Amino acid sequence: MNNLIVEGPKKGLDVIKKEAEKALASLENQLNMPVDFPVLVRLHESRAKYEKQLGRKTQKWEVGNTSANGTIDIIHPNSFKKYASRPKSDFVKILKHELWHTFAKRIAGKSAIPCWLNEGMAMCLANQADQYQNRRGYYIEEGFAVKLSTAHGWNTYANYDA
Ligand SMILES: [Zn+2]
Repeated sequence: MNNLIVEGPKKGLDVIKKEAEKALASLENQLNMPVDFPVLVRLHESRAKYEKQLGRKTQKWEVGNTSANGTIDIIHPNSFKKYASRPKSDFVKILKHELWHTFAKRIAGKSAIPCWLNEGMAMCLANQADQYQNRRGYYIEEGFAVKLSTAHGWNTYANYDA
């Protein structure tokens, strides 16, 4: 895939690039939409480097980010245990999740996408929905989707039955 660039430590980079290609091909299939846009994935070996790139502090659960220009920053799978309190095996799903966001940007253009829709699609496509099941056993309260529409609202409320 010519429009995919994966940057990071040389060791194991080929394997990660293959996984990224596979995830992109799978998204092309699921969405019936070609990857006709450039995709840049940057792997970071520590949370400090990840945060330096993003220019902000991040929460412990946050391991991947897709910026406004479509660049993906993600913590290296070998650093997951140390910096992300997640198993290395979660990496491929998280990568696919972030790759969806590049499709979403392509689809939406300059328009805003409600966070609940963008993140919900990401979780469904990357097979992560089970992590966000409604544990209380009842439906979310009225107006809840509004709270989840912004990045701040999403980060604050997503773990409460989103
Ligand atoms: Zn996301």
